[in-house]
Parts: sequence; structure tokens; C-alpha cells
Amino acid sequence: MENIIKDIDIIREEEDKSCDVAITAEESTGGTKKLYIESYGCQMNFSDSEIVASIMKDNGFDTTSDFRTADVIFLNTCSIREKAEQTVRKRLSQFNQVKSEKPELTIGVLGCMAERLKEKLLEEEKLVDLVVGPDAYRDLPNLVGQAEEGSKGVNTFLSREETYADISPVRLNSNGVSAFISIMRGCDNMCSFCVVPFTRGRERSRDPHSIVNEARELFQRGYKEVTLLGQNVDSYKWSAEENNKARLNKKETVLSEVIHFSDLLEMVARIDPRLRVRFSTSHPKDITDEVLLTMKRYDNICKYIHLPVQSGNSRILALMNRTYDREWYLDRVRKIREILGEDCGISSDMIAGFCSETESEHQDTLSMMDLVQYDFSYMFYYSERPGTLAAKKLADDVPLETKKRRLQEIIEKQNQLSLMRNQRDIGTVQEILIEGQSKRSAEQLKGRNSANKVVIVAAGGLQIGDYVQVRITDCSSATLFGEVTD
Ligand code: SAM
Ligand code: SF4
Repeated sequence: MENIIKDIDIIREEEDKSCDVAITAEESTGGTKKLYIESYGCQMNFSDSEIVASIMKDNGFDTTSDFRTADVIFLNTCSIREKAEQTVRKRLSQFNQVKSEKPELTIGVLGCMAERLKEKLLEEEKLVDLVVGPDAYRDLPNLVGQAEEGSKGVNTFLSREETYADISPVRLNSNGVSAFISIMRGCDNMCSFCVVPFTRGRERSRDPHSIVNEARELFQRGYKEVTLLGQNVDSYKWSAEENNKARLNKKETVLSEVIHFSDLLEMVARIDPRLRVRFSTSHPKDITDEVLLTMKRYDNICKYIHLPVQSGNSRILALMNRTYDREWYLDRVRKIREILGEDCGISSDMIAGFCSETESEHQDTLSMMDLVQYDFSYMFYYSERPGTLAAKKLADDVPLETKKRRLQEIIEKQNQLSLMRNQRDIGTVQEILIEGQSKRSAEQLKGRNSANKVVIVAAGGLQIGDYVQVRITDCSSATLFGEVTD
């Protein structure tokens, strides 16, 4: 998801590239108070901050990019790896210094760390006033009010139904072209390494009509691309009677209408052919041929799939409780190539040095990468998370040095593959959506092709939001360079 995350103007952490951070921009809509939100981790978290900003805006708060001027500071946190939590703790101690000089300031910890650590955070970080989990954001104005009166507030209740479907997010750090729409919450998979099912609760799907309305409204406001977000979008399943996946699967009575992900994708794609549709993340066990065929039917559904493999070895995949093996994954990739062709972008997440991983099992990950030819990947070494199945049952026994070396080998392999995949594009003409200024030069713009690759072109005569035909002339492992042909 890194490419998606880069879009929203992130300040990158020097020491930990795996943990991204976004801050709120300055906005003046006549609110009487200022809110500063710093968001860490995945795109879902950034999307949640847009919901938080909307709830707070309805209660008189404008956003600010300067925490020193804020009445309320929220840290929307990530627990996925230990490093992400350490980063947040460091930041909290900096904010606490501000609070010691400005006692009326309210500091709140939101998101996954709030859920994981609960009251412990209030005890450890004495100057934190609020601890609020991902399903309790509607309670924020009330809890902020209590904090202003001097009492500390905790709400880490995990809901089985909450999807914030009726809340229209305030677009933070938006380029005005691409927006993210959360289509589901929580996760019912129990990947043994992962803390998400514990911090974000059970899987719920959001009312498809509210999703289509949000996408249509964005298109009417000039947006040209929406990305449908969920931990496991292919598992999306909704009926008017039930939005909780586990309960829906148990229903014996016939339901009026059951919407699956392929249906939702089609509903959004039909809003307008000039609205591009993307989605993330796909789970290899759930992505169906129906989804691939829907992607093929609609030119405006981008030909790009983020399909995290985690490991290329079947024994490790079983220990990770991913519920597919190497052959299943390769079969899904074959099907993607058969239906969507060689140009469809495929990316992955990889974990190096999971519990008991041997050298030859690590080699299986490298050979998997060669077979699939990923366009890019998000690569991590294993970080044991308290409370997960792996932490309870498996020894974290691969030495740190070995994890780091294996990760480096994976990164090097990915760099070679990314370059090869990009070189294939040289000479082709592709449709690019212009998203913004190139970071390197004011005379260049950056856009993205259907396969989610960044393409740099000369700025002359182009506007952000334009669709243009571009001939690819050159590339690096991270970027394509092209010339506009029309
Ligand atoms: N739902 C997505 C999926 O199933 O692919 C992933 C969500 S998670 C926020 C993003 C990535 O973080 C995972 O795909 C995994 O590679 C990585 N990750 C999760 N837990 C981890 C851990 N304990 N140590 C290292 N990497 C981890
Ligand atoms: Fe975590 Fe697995 Fe759910 Fe992804 S599918 S959020 S890795 S438990």
C-alpha cells in the first residue's frame, strides 16, 4: 500500500520506512477550536482520521497543521509492528512537554494502540487524557468535553456493527483527484502474526448504497479516482438485514439481497466511466474469478491487485494461518494473468524470518517472487506482537541479524523485479491520470497508470485531474518517465 500512502503527502520517518505518518492540514470553516491529528500506519488509519475530523468538525473543530496552536491533539496509532508503537510513544512524550506548558490542551490516543493497551496507556503516559478505540469515534466529542472538565476518558468498545456509513469524511491531505473510501471494518481472519483482529474487531461490511453515494459525490466534486479500502475487500458481504460477516454467514432465512465484492465493484464502476476504481487489500484465499471478470469488463476498474503472499513456503503459510498454500497462491496468479493479462500490476506484502523459518523456506519466498514477478512489495521482518496466536504458540526464534539479512535479500530481489517490470513498459502508450506536482521539479507532473505505477511527464499544458495518453520512454525501479502523445 506504500504507493497509495505516498499519495497523501506523508512525512516519512527516517528510521522506519514501514511506518508512515500523515498530519492534518490547516482548514478554516469558522470552527471555534483547533484539532491536530497525526495518523500512523496503514491507509485504513488515514481514512479513519477523516471520519474523526468530520465528527469533530460537527462539534466546532477546524483542523490545524501546527500542534502548538491546537486545543486537541489526537494520535491515531498503529500496532502492527513494535517499531510503529515505539514511534508513537516518542511522539507522545514530545506532546506531553507541550502540555506541561499548556495544561488546558487535550491529548488523545486513538486507533490500534488505544485498543491494545487501553487504560495502561493512561497510567503509563500520565498526560494522555483520552484513549479511544477505532469503533468509538462517535463518542469523541463527549469524551473531549469530559477531558476539558478534568476527567480522563476511555472508550475501547469494539462494535459488531459500526461502519460509520452515514459520516461524510473530511478529506485530509487530499490532492483533489484521488480519495479513499472505507468499505468494511475489522477482520475475521486470524493470521497468527497479526494484531488487527484484536485491535479492529470483527469484520463488518458497509452499506453499498452509502459507498456508491460517497463515490458519486466525490466524482461530482471533481475527484477522478476512488480506492475501496478494507483489510480483506474480497470478503465483503452485505445484506440489508445483517452487515456482520460471521452472523450473515450463519443466517438461515433467505435474505432480500446479498451484495458481494464483485457486485459492489460493478456498482461503483458504473457511476461514470471517467471515475477510476481501485481496491485494497485482496486476500489470496478470497479473491474470486468473478472479481477478476468484473475488472476485465470495466475499463475504469484499474488493472492492479495488491495480493499479499507473506511467505512463499507452504509450511510457513500454514504456521501463519493464512489458509492457502504456495500452489493455491500461484494458481490465483495464473488466473489473474489468464483473465487480465501480463500487464495487470501485482504487488505483495512479505514477512522475512517468521517463527522457525529455515534458509530453504526463505529461498521459497525468493523463488515465489521470481515466479510472480511482483511490480512492487511492502517488505518487513517479523515482529512478535503480544496477544497474537504466534506470540502464544510459536517461538520467535530466527535471530534478528538473520531476519534483517533475509529482508535485505527480499528487498534486493524486489528492486530487480520492479526494474524488469518497468522496462517492459518502455515504448508502450498508456493512459495516465495526472495527480500532482512531481517532487523533483516544478516543471514535471506525476500521474499514475492503471497498474498503479507512478509516471512522470513534462508539465506543459496539463492540469491535475487530466487523463492523458503517454508514451513511456524511460524508467527506474520505482518510476516510469513518459511523453504525452495527445
Ligand atoms: N489485511 C492485509 C492482508 O491480509 O494482507 C494486511 C494488513 S497489515 C496492516 C499489513 C502488513 O503488515 C501485512 O500484510 C504483513 O505483511 C505486515 N505485518 C502484519 N503483522 C506483522 C508482524 N507482526 N510483523 C511483521 N509484519 C507484519
Ligand atoms: Fe491481519 Fe490477516 Fe486480517 Fe490481514 S487478513 S488484517 S494480515 S489477520
